[in-house]
Amino acid sequence: MSRRRQIYEGKAKILYEGPEPGTIIQYFKDDATAFNAEKKGTINGKGVINNRISEHIFTLLTHIGIPSHFIRRLNMREQLVKQVEIVPIEVIVRNVAAGSLSKRLGIEEGTALPHTLLEYCYKDDALGDPLVAEEHIACFGWASQEEMQDISAMAIRINDFLAGMFAGIGIKLIDFKLEFGRVFEGDFSRIILADEISPDGCRLWDIETNEKLDKDRFRRDLGGEAEAYQEVARRLGLFPEGSSEVADLNSERKKRGK
Ligand code: UDP
Repeated sequence: MSRRRQIYEGKAKILYEGPEPGTIIQYFKDDATAFNAEKKGTINGKGVINNRISEHIFTLLTHIGIPSHFIRRLNMREQLVKQVEIVPIEVIVRNVAAGSLSKRLGIEEGTALPHTLLEYCYKDDALGDPLVAEEHIACFGWASQEEMQDISAMAIRINDFLAGMFAGIGIKLIDFKLEFGRVFEGDFSRIILADEISPDGCRLWDIETNEKLDKDRFRRDLGGEAEAYQEVARRLGLFPEGSSEVADLNSERKKRGK
């Protein structure tokens, strides 16, 4: 593949040095992991779909004034982004109880929350990304209180926008994960949205049937994960029927025998 210098390989993406200083190329893989990488597999075509969905969402978020690392999509699996210093916190935004919240507090999955809940996890694979309080974040200096104000305000705005966007295409936004980074400008730094927003890091349920259209299909061995990701993209108006990208995706899938 590419001769560019690899900076980092994560569970779902590879980061390469970008063409100009301060830029990075994000390559979206088909690899899927769950339960802190205890479960591993591939979802054919996932990287292509997530690259496109994330491009779409980050572009819309830019239009409503959410600053992000996204610069432009380069090809089917790559996008150019600004290099940031990642804040080591995963921000979980919840509208409906599911997953670890349901397990931890014994709240039935699917219970609507009286208001949006923000949770923070410390990004550390060896520790299994533990849930932390804002006090831990301040105490250990992972982010300043000012930065946390920007992060939480952005997370709520992103949620309001995305919940409406998904409702418009018959999808309930149950919960999702965000990551933020710092960009430095002279003596100052500011917080921008980073990483990706795709069915890998969201719970998306069909409004009518509650069918899961996200990575829970993989986590819970429900099957049909590639089709579910493709359905989300289709409802968003991406990859229109008969487009060359759909043909490419299908032929990629055939080649791999799926
Ligand atoms: N999530 C994620 N990466 C993580 C942890 C969570 O993208 O490392 C997303 C997950 O897809 C879900 C939301 O954040 O949409 C809440 O996840 P939860 O805390 O319920 O964890 P899980 O059930 O996935 O262990």
